[in-house]
Amino acid sequence: MEKFAHLFTLKIRGLGFGSHPVEISVPSSQLDLPRFYGDIHAKGEIVVSDRLALHLLLQATGTFDCDRCGIEFEKTLTPVIDLLYVPPLLASDAEEDDNIHIFEPQTNEIDFTEDIRDAIILAIPMKNLHSPDCKGVDLGGKDMLIDERLASLGGLLEKLREEEMNSGAPGGVSQG
Ligand SMILES: [Zn+2]
Repeated sequence: MEKFAHLFTLKIRGLGFGSHPVEISVPSSQLDLPRFYGDIHAKGEIVVSDRLALHLLLQATGTFDCDRCGIEFEKTLTPVIDLLYVPPLLASDAEEDDNIHIFEPQTNEIDFTEDIRDAIILAIPMKNLHSPDCKGVDLGGKDMLIDERLASLGGLLEKLREEEMNSGAPGGVSQG
């Protein structure tokens, strides 16, 4: 856990009440996100009141394999994270939640590196299609194979029927 600390941090000491812009970029390699490359961007604001509300739009670009046709394609994930930092006194009325952290008011900075890493990992889709209407490049070939097999099976059936007709065996009647 400590491994990824201190990459996405904000100094909160001396921040006045109200909204302050936030923009941080960290190389994806430092976050051990192997599918991704370039920087992970976080842009948004922190709103200071009796608590701290951090609202960030993330941008992470990676390469994924299309589940249907197998080609590698590039995709930018843009998850949004909302984190709430509450002092211990207010913590009682805050619901237990992954997105709510307790912080001591005398803290110098908040560290949300793990939160950002988790949000990006959660944003990776279960199914990846390089295009919403991907037909799957390999399917055409498979269909042809199946057709060929059916065709040869059909030929075999015809041969069997012919043989049956020619043999004139009475056994054929009971099958009808
Ligand atoms: Zn595809």
